[in-house]
Amino acid sequence: MQATPDRYAVIGYPVKHSWSPFIHGMFAKQTNHALTYTRMEVAPADFQSEVEAFFANGGRGLNVTVPHKQAACLVSRYRTPRAEIAGAVNTIAAQADGLFGDNTDGAGLVTDLTRNLGLTLADTRILLLGAGGAARGVLGPLLGEGPAYLEIANRNAERAIELATEFRTLGEVRGCGFDAITAAGHFDLVLNATSASLQETIPPIPPGVIGATTLCYDMAYGKGDTAFTRWAKSAGAGRAETGWGMLVEQAAESFFLWRGVKPDTRPVLEAVKNQR
Ligand code: NDP
Repeated sequence: MQATPDRYAVIGYPVKHSWSPFIHGMFAKQTNHALTYTRMEVAPADFQSEVEAFFANGGRGLNVTVPHKQAACLVSRYRTPRAEIAGAVNTIAAQADGLFGDNTDGAGLVTDLTRNLGLTLADTRILLLGAGGAARGVLGPLLGEGPAYLEIANRNAERAIELATEFRTLGEVRGCGFDAITAAGHFDLVLNATSASLQETIPPIPPGVIGATTLCYDMAYGKGDTAFTRWAKSAGAGRAETGWGMLVEQAAESFFLWRGVKPDTRPVLEAVKNQR
């Protein structure tokens, strides 16, 4: 048994809504690791100094949430290729010679889709709504699964086109505005990576993009359905899921990076679902 538990935290602005302390608390209990995990509400102007102070005072790892993921990339001396591709870091670990940054969001999403929800992504047609930080973070791992085609649609079409251009070496990917979404046949997977659900609205999705075999997935999560999953169900989607699984799976990836052990996510996902 360690004398002093290792210290971890999630840093964001705001951060009081974060489920990470609950999730990592369950992982720690399950794996019998002695650690503490708290929330740090830090404004952008103070991000770098607070991160440096946390690690200088013996902190072992941080999860990074909105709006700090790009700043976290800059404070990390070393970055994994997936963090480099995403241009964003959501997990920082202390190493002897500097801070190490990773991005586990995309791996978390892919694990939820493939292992928890039983989807095979190879040769599928994917529509990704949104071109912000979350979309950027998941693009590399999604394209790594070998979909036939991935379309990024965003309110600001230029952002989607730029993102598609940046990722074009990784697969068949195109960017456009919502009004230019490919209308020929429905997609196998429609991912909502916009923050529209947080405003209780949905992006203007043209009819015909979803069908009875489409899985609609909202990266946002909350109590019950989101505006997007409600819309998807009423529009005839085969299945509609919220982002709880992604949240728990990306946390498990962070835990693995810090502690060298992969927790069992199933009981944690069950617990989160029961409490939400
Ligand atoms: P960003 O602020 O970086 O990006 C927001 C995106 O949403 C942009 O593409 C923006 O379009 C679009 N948008 C905002 N409002 C609307 C609207 N009313 N209609 C259409 N599009 C809109 O946010 P993030 O990328 O960080 O987060 C996006 C979502 O993903 C959030 O709901 C967040 O909670 C969720 N998320 C979930 C995770 C999980 O583990 N489940 C992990 C990370 C994020 P424009 O460019 O035109 O402004």
